[in-house]
Amino acid sequence: MSDDAPESPARRRVVSGMAAGLVAGVAAPALAQQAQQGAGAATAAPMRDPTTAYPRPPFPTQQQPWPGLAGKMTPRPDHGETSYKGSGRLAGRKALITGGDSGMGRAAAIAYAREGADVAINYLPDEEPDAREVIQLITAAGRRGVAIPGDIREEAFCNRLVEEAVRQLGGLDILVNNAGRQQSHDLFTEITTEQFDWTMKTNVYAPFWITRAALPHLKPGSAIIITSSVVAYEPPENLFDYAQTKAANMIYAKVLAKQLASRGIRVNAVAPGPVWTALQVTGGQSPDKIPTFGQDTPMGRPGQPVELASIYVQLAASDASYATGQVYGATGGRGGP
Ligand code: NAD
Ligand code: MG
Repeated sequence: MSDDAPESPARRRVVSGMAAGLVAGVAAPALAQQAQQGAGAATAAPMRDPTTAYPRPPFPTQQQPWPGLAGKMTPRPDHGETSYKGSGRLAGRKALITGGDSGMGRAAAIAYAREGADVAINYLPDEEPDAREVIQLITAAGRRGVAIPGDIREEAFCNRLVEEAVRQLGGLDILVNNAGRQQSHDLFTEITTEQFDWTMKTNVYAPFWITRAALPHLKPGSAIIITSSVVAYEPPENLFDYAQTKAANMIYAKVLAKQLASRGIRVNAVAPGPVWTALQVTGGQSPDKIPTFGQDTPMGRPGQPVELASIYVQLAASDASYATGQVYGATGGRGGP
């Protein structure tokens, strides 16, 4: 810390101690730093065994019609509602998150708001109950929450989504392309052209349209994040179309990072392993696989959305200023980046 840096409470405490004759001379800056580090350590979450920190299989058999609600899952996914603590890492930022009603997008929305960002979320109209909870959580964090329902398979809506987010947030600094469509099929010939198109439009076209509309609004220092997947690296046999889109999402980050680095815009991807979300109980897995979902990872359980939240924060935060074109995996030990 330089001597002319703004004073933190920790530094003030040390300096007043100095005045009382407890410390002297050149030791002060180092001690101030130690005091700050100490304060951080005191607020760190207690150490937990990750294998038992969250629910383990078996899970109850369950299915919902697409797109499903997190609020109707048993157990309810943990998106950090009661646990995520912010520390001002995204103070004053403006973020748009697709699929922000549930799963990874909801975990990112809660974390971003608690880190000080205003957040717009997009979702499908059927997901209004989940979305309403997210807006309440953002508002409870003292930030502006903007709800923009609509189907991102339509180019015109993608353009409107960005315009509306920019208008209501007063700008845009963080774009998270996270919405996704996943349906399990044992044999690729079972996939109709309509279904194939649905997956491609949601997972590949929409991020292209949304990012293209957002680019004119993104200033140097902005961050773009896309949700790829472990399946880009370890494609399972039942996800022929979906796995191709997640590989495309990984390449999206690597190519766009090269194009946008000179503009000061970073682009990264997150690659989750199996995570307990609505995507999986609405056709993403065959119903008989739900009770043992995540069991085949070295961790022996699926991830919870909250376990990805800090990764979305890290990739958006300006102290990650040299990280671009990267894929950040959180897979419970399965393959990945
Ligand atoms: P989720 O169902 O909670 O979230 C997906 C969201 O996508 C939905 O909430 C919905 O709002 C949105 N969406 C889907 N189609 C849409 C459309 N046409 N228009 C607008 N919004 C639409 O599930 P999730 O697992 O959190 O999925 C988020 C991302 O994570 C997806 O990109 C998915 O591919 C990826 N992912 C999930 C897992 C996993 O195991 N759950 C693993 C790796 C990657
Ligand atoms: Mg949802």
